[in-house]
Order: sequence, then structure tokens, then C-alpha cells
Amino acid sequence: MGEDVEKLKQHRSLLEYLREQNWTGRPAGRFEIVGLCPLHDETQPSFYVNSRKDVFYCHGCGHGGDLIRFVQLSRHLSFRESLAYLSSRTPPDTGSAVVLEQAADFYQQQLDQYPEALAYLRQRGVHDPALIRELRIGYAPGGKLRRHLTAQGYSFALLQRLGLIDARGADALYHRIVFPLEPSRPIVNLYGRSLGSAFAHRFLPGSKGGLYAWKKVQHYPEVILVEGLFDYAVLRQAGFPNVTCSLGTHLNSDQFRQLCHGQRTVYLAFDCDPNQSGQQAAQKLACRLSAHGIAARRVLLPEGHDPDSFFVAGGDAQRFHSLLETAQP
Ligand SMILES: [Zn+2]
Repeated sequence: MGEDVEKLKQHRSLLEYLREQNWTGRPAGRFEIVGLCPLHDETQPSFYVNSRKDVFYCHGCGHGGDLIRFVQLSRHLSFRESLAYLSSRTPPDTGSAVVLEQAADFYQQQLDQYPEALAYLRQRGVHDPALIRELRIGYAPGGKLRRHLTAQGYSFALLQRLGLIDARGADALYHRIVFPLEPSRPIVNLYGRSLGSAFAHRFLPGSKGGLYAWKKVQHYPEVILVEGLFDYAVLRQAGFPNVTCSLGTHLNSDQFRQLCHGQRTVYLAFDCDPNQSGQQAAQKLACRLSAHGIAARRVLLPEGHDPDSFFVAGGDAQRFHSLLETAQP
């Protein structure tokens, strides 16, 4: 019985349960949230939830306890009935988008506080504050997200399920620039680019979603497709509004379908690395697109460059325009 209780509580915190019931509160101290008591009528909030201990106490009616106690009192059930009630209801999955949203907000707030993060962005050629805000670019310093989210009542189990923290409880994204996928709601994933070179790219488990910011570009007759988010950012910054990103050279079926829907020309601006892997991927993709009636052209960047490094090395919009004009069918 004790084991069952622990399992239940790990699965969902009291605050998560209260939020599912549309309870709202405001922070009142580091681990406390106060709101109107769901157990008695009141106009002044006196219902406190301690997110760390996962318990509540109401100064109005004097009731207090854990999640199971709350269910007993609010639904007039016995202890055993409350356990059965809670285990029959699995937490709704819509919660994940909300948590990713909170994580993205947190990372965004961190960015300005870490000079190394801003220096890295500059080094990659991303400097326009309006664009950084629009894309909601953030920074994961590591070791801070878990504390921030558990203080808001999100359970350890939920954060682990989403991959935001690992099995040992450490933040999964550490010393990484973070891009939410995508900047508009709902966020389906986060991409973290390491400031170092080891394990450069990292996503949370699960789908990367469709093409990045596709809604913004789907009506353009010509679309530039890049493989990385820094490529995306520098092209946007250089004044190209019709860019999208596949987050790698391999398109998932959603992404491929998006490109094939409608009439357009796709400019593939993949890496021109010495081992040719980017260009080979571009060639294959161009063939697949042509087979679906979509005109595809390969942008030939100078050897060893991707769009990001092209601009960092002094390339400008005009020179990129000429590359588009000479792109290979
Ligand atoms: Zn009360």
C-alpha cells in the first residue's frame, strides 16, 4: 500500500492535480503558492501549497495534508477510494507543452546573464536583439532548471518523462544555447547547441516536429531550406524572410510533406563540407522533391562553408542572392 502511494505521488504532484482542476495561485515565498481554498468558500486566499513538500494547508478551514488527503476532502472519498480514483486517472498529456513553455521562458531569461552565451551567439553571427527575442533563443547554464520547475510544482517524474532532467536528476541541457521548436506555441521540443564541440547537438526525446517556422514561409513561391538553426538565424538577419530549417539533412515525413504541398521552388542551402555529405543529402532530396513535382535547386556555397559560416566570414545578402541565382537544378 505504501509503495502504491509513493508511486501515485511520483506520478503527479499536488500542484499538478490542482492545476488540472483549474486552481490558480500566486507565489508566496520560495516554495509556496497561495490561492483561494477549493475546500471552503472564501474571498481572500488562505490556501497554501508547499511545492517542495508537496502538501497544502488552509488557514481558513484548517485542513491540510498531501494529494490523497486533498482528494479525500474535496471528493468526499475514503483513503482507499481516493487512491483508486487517482490511479484511474492518468495525468493529461497536454501538460507537456506547458512545461516546455516554462522551460523555454526560463532559458530565455538566463541568456543575458551569461556573457559566454552572448559571446557564442556573436561568434556564430547572431546579434539582432529583435530576432533573438522573436526566436526565443535562450541559454541553459545547467543545474538550475530542475529547481526552478519543481518550485513551481512540476513533479520530478514529469520532468524526467519530458527528458528535461536525466535519471540522476541533473538538467539535460547544460552549457547550451537553446532554441524552442518552435518559437510559436505549442512547443514540441527544445534544441540545445553546446558552447563546446563535444556532443554539439542535442534534442529532447520525441519528435522534432515539422519544418521550423513553416507557417511563416509556406506561402512563398520560393523557399530556402537550411539544415541548422544558426543558418536559419543568420539568413533571417540578412533580410531573407523565406527561410525554413529541417534540423539536419534528413527530413522526417511531416517535413517532406510540408515541402511537397503546393507549388514552389526549394533552394537547398546545406553545408558544403569537404566530405560532401551535405551536398549528397541535398542531391538526394532534390531528386525526391522533383519526383513529387517540386522544383529544387542546390545552392553551392564556397567549399567548407554553411550559410552561417558564409555570413560570419563576411558574406552578405547580395552575395548570397547571387548564389541563389546560380543554384544548380
Ligand atoms: Zn479552506
